[in-house]
Amino acid sequence: MSTNINEDNLPNLLELEKLANQFFKSAPGEDIDQFAQTEPLKEFNPVADYAGGIPGADGLPIALFGTHPQPPSLSGVGASPSAINQGNVINLKEPQTSFEDPALQSSNSSNNNKLPASPFSGSGLSPYNLNEIPYLQDRSFEKELQDTLNKINAAPAIPQLPFGVGQYAGDPSYYFLKPVPSQFSAARSTGASGIINPPFDVNIIRQDFPILKERVNGKQLIWLDNAATTQKPRQVIDRISYFYEHENSNIHRAAHELAARATDAYEGARKKVQNFLNAASVKEIVFVRGATEAINLVAKSWGEQNLQAGDEIIVSHLEHHANIVPWQQLAAKKNLKIRVIPVDDDGQLIIEEYTKLLNHKTKLVSFTQVSNALGTVTPAEQIVRLGHLAGAKVLVDGAQSVSHMPVDVQALNADWFVFSGHKVFAPTGIGVLYGKEDLLNETQPWQGGGNMIVDVTFEHTQYHDAPSRFEAGTGNIADAVGLGAAIDYVTQIGMPNIALYEHYLLIYATQLLKEVPGLRLIGTAANKASVLSFVLEGYKTEEVGHELNKQGIAVRSGHHCAQPILRRFGLESTVRPSLAFYNTCAEIDLLAETLHRLKK
Ligand code: PMP
Repeated sequence: MSTNINEDNLPNLLELEKLANQFFKSAPGEDIDQFAQTEPLKEFNPVADYAGGIPGADGLPIALFGTHPQPPSLSGVGASPSAINQGNVINLKEPQTSFEDPALQSSNSSNNNKLPASPFSGSGLSPYNLNEIPYLQDRSFEKELQDTLNKINAAPAIPQLPFGVGQYAGDPSYYFLKPVPSQFSAARSTGASGIINPPFDVNIIRQDFPILKERVNGKQLIWLDNAATTQKPRQVIDRISYFYEHENSNIHRAAHELAARATDAYEGARKKVQNFLNAASVKEIVFVRGATEAINLVAKSWGEQNLQAGDEIIVSHLEHHANIVPWQQLAAKKNLKIRVIPVDDDGQLIIEEYTKLLNHKTKLVSFTQVSNALGTVTPAEQIVRLGHLAGAKVLVDGAQSVSHMPVDVQALNADWFVFSGHKVFAPTGIGVLYGKEDLLNETQPWQGGGNMIVDVTFEHTQYHDAPSRFEAGTGNIADAVGLGAAIDYVTQIGMPNIALYEHYLLIYATQLLKEVPGLRLIGTAANKASVLSFVLEGYKTEEVGHELNKQGIAVRSGHHCAQPILRRFGLESTVRPSLAFYNTCAEIDLLAETLHRLKK
């Protein structure tokens, strides 16, 4: 394996396929046999059923990421009767990797040949040297794969604190609780699960997501609607169940055992969010319902308090409606002006135009770090810096970024950063407003009630400082705890690992979709994450969505709550597959095959 990168900066896929097949063939036969099916099935199923982990060097399965032994029963998985007892459809004796693709080899370079650049480039978020990213450098992808596979075989299972168990993970204890391991956490910590930063193996990771075994229309579910919401790993599901079984109480108020457990779990989750975003203080993390509520909070508290007639707010053409409508409402009320950073034909923000919009009347810049409709990664640090130079406050919408790349709010230096838990493998109904501590404390609350006060008389109320100041009433305690578990989960995989893997997947998918006749990709920025919006000649977007759904492939078709940017491209809707780290090349193959078939 010597020359591994071809002229399109893609690895030599045939070689890669050969290597992967060799590896699987040379893996210990008896151990694999129990998972393998003698007849290779024609129907595609991307998930190898490594029920107890993949076989290790000693022949025993190595379980990564808290895999759960899977009994053959399908009860409760919502499988259709036709799905029952089909079991595993991958023959490990004659494994089929996803890499062989004749269309790819005959790649037609007349098609738009731009492939997405690194998710880190230009974002100032690089956690490591860009030179280390294969595809960009003359570095052997095959060698990487081989190294990774070797590491999986050799890696000892390092006992590790379980995911998402606040008390046991050494989080601070509130009230009177000592950090005593619960039965739940003890059981999990003594299992084979939990390896610190294990090598990335998508087939093993997939075992943590029960819903990925679901069948839809008799086919294996392929979840490519991650920009709308992400699926939840068992660790998050279990953590929420554990909360309701062992910790459920309201927080902060009653001085009893369960109140203390619930408070520990909730505040532990806040600490995890702080670490995840690298915020300077836990007081900068406000729990809200999601990104939408976080933006509304800023508009209705800081905006109401500080903006005056004639002031200007800058948003970008890429924005989700959640980052347009609250500002429009405020503008109508206060006679403010909204100005829009334009995009070029690839869907990239035109920074020179942005600089022309900035002036002494600009009081706020509010923009997305990743576009949900096009996948464009914006140069967030630069936009923040320029906004600050003009004297404006800056809000970054991280709804589509936090699940795809490391985020460091101190490096970003935005005044606020918002995201939704459900887009980062956590439950719906929980999200985060990060705000700089002083700014939050100078800002009037937007809702009043319990929890957020120091003292109330009929004449006067004294508010707490942040975060309580903005958390009136009983919050979504259990789902905040679930968010903590999701953060533990992605942190253990490693956000840089996730970003890198998804980067490969996006390049692979981009290349394959370009081969589909009549397919027009919408959003061809050099720097993209996760999203592949397109239209297909001769088909309405909902027809494409419908056909894909017949194959078990879930994508979004519609306007994606981002009508202005689609209209910029002359469209009312697109088909939008969007990737997460549990997606595979094989799933992309099936997406592309289905689209090819449709065109025929
Ligand atoms: N901003 C962006 C970029 C989004 O993609 C979304 C969700 N699609 C939101 C904001 C709003 O998120 P939520 O609906 O979870 O509040």
